[in-house]
Amino acid sequence: MLVVHVAFECAPIYKTGGLGDVVGSLPVYEAKLAIKTLVMIPAYAWVPRLSTLPGSKVEVLYIDGSRLDKPNKKHDPKIQGPKYAEFCLNVISELKRRGIVPDILHCHDWHTALIPFLLKKRPDPFFKITKTLLTIHNIAYQGKFPVKYFLYPETQQFTELVGDNSKRVNFLKLGMQSADFISTVSPAHAQEIRKGNAGFGLSRVLRHKRGRFLGILNGIDYNVWNPAPDGYVYEKYTRQSVFSGKLTNKVKLQQQLGLTVNKDIPLYGFIARLSSQKGVDLLTPLISELPRERLQLVLLGTGDHKIEKMLNEFNHKNFAPWISVNLRFDEQLAHRIYAASDFFLIPSHYEPCGLTQMISMVYGTIPVASAVGGLVDTIKDGRTGFLLKSTTSESLHQAIRRSLALWENTLEYRGMVARVMKQDFSWDKSATEYVRLYRRILSL
Ligand code: ADP
Repeated sequence: MLVVHVAFECAPIYKTGGLGDVVGSLPVYEAKLAIKTLVMIPAYAWVPRLSTLPGSKVEVLYIDGSRLDKPNKKHDPKIQGPKYAEFCLNVISELKRRGIVPDILHCHDWHTALIPFLLKKRPDPFFKITKTLLTIHNIAYQGKFPVKYFLYPETQQFTELVGDNSKRVNFLKLGMQSADFISTVSPAHAQEIRKGNAGFGLSRVLRHKRGRFLGILNGIDYNVWNPAPDGYVYEKYTRQSVFSGKLTNKVKLQQQLGLTVNKDIPLYGFIARLSSQKGVDLLTPLISELPRERLQLVLLGTGDHKIEKMLNEFNHKNFAPWISVNLRFDEQLAHRIYAASDFFLIPSHYEPCGLTQMISMVYGTIPVASAVGGLVDTIKDGRTGFLLKSTTSESLHQAIRRSLALWENTLEYRGMVARVMKQDFSWDKSATEYVRLYRRILSL
């Protein structure tokens, strides 16, 4: 079986969030199950080109396009739309040019969702045996554009298929209607987006798919996320040395970030793309109420300008000894925060899967998280973390209070750390489920 993964990002080559992690790992773990896998991503000029994914023989193909290098700092839709329409068209022509016939074309998110649409609308005998799977990593991002944005020679084939210029197109919706199967990244989120507002207007399309839609939980790559061999952290540690290891990491991080050095005070981490999804609005009103003598906060994130501005307020020297705000993308600091923190905050309004709770647990860091999507599938309230009763500041405050009470009880705290570190979030499990799903799709 040949499975071709197509996405706009793939770690460690290029990553802006969890999608990059998934596309960098899943094909490698599938290959271990004797499935031939291949990855296709845009040939952005600014990314280094690896011919294979690290530690594997999984080949990466880079798709050229005349619009791919258009600078697009503000996610200008006039640039985004034609860029990824051209990418999808070029993926199809590149497969043909190379004579590659996938059994499964596994497309990830809206950037690649036109591929199932193009293959369905314009059936090509070359892809006669090919089935398409569209995985939705975040249904809020759909790629909606007026057709008039696509009036370029490179995207003409696409505009001919969607018709008149006055119309608007929705990449994700077209892909969902056309794909042989749809998946999302956790079973709980698959239930959520079937109904109401959680589907961001696409619930009905999902309900139409009925038996052709399910959720498979993401895994995390233990070669990347593992405190024992981690080259970024101050001190490596294992389950046996977790308490002394975390203590050293905490003290060094407190020094690095200018926090008061105090090994007894619990450190709360937060790492996220700064979008409204991630619930910074639940955290900021609490900051003045939190007992600064009883906890410290370290935040790392970049994204929405308004959220960055809101967080920048806490960069003020009044907060310096107990809050550290870091507004950038920084892989090394991320690893250090996972290792140094005692608790990890995830107050998301919705979370399709969420990787940060799983990464935290591998580092012996206890998650305090909203009870939504993949967070529900991975955290047992009171056993392996704390879930918010509802997605509000008050519930977050309450959950933080529960975690502080745990911290005061060393025996129970240590028991929970031991439990979170025993959880198995390996890709082996999820990759096996995907392969089972591919077989099912091929038999449709
Ligand atoms: P999403 O896919 O919605 O961004 P996930 O929880 O699935 O959220 O994945 C987030 C990934 O991105 C994690 O690997 C996290 O460590 C990483 N990440 C997010 N923001 C940053 C940042 N500013 N610097 C470094 N890593 C980050």
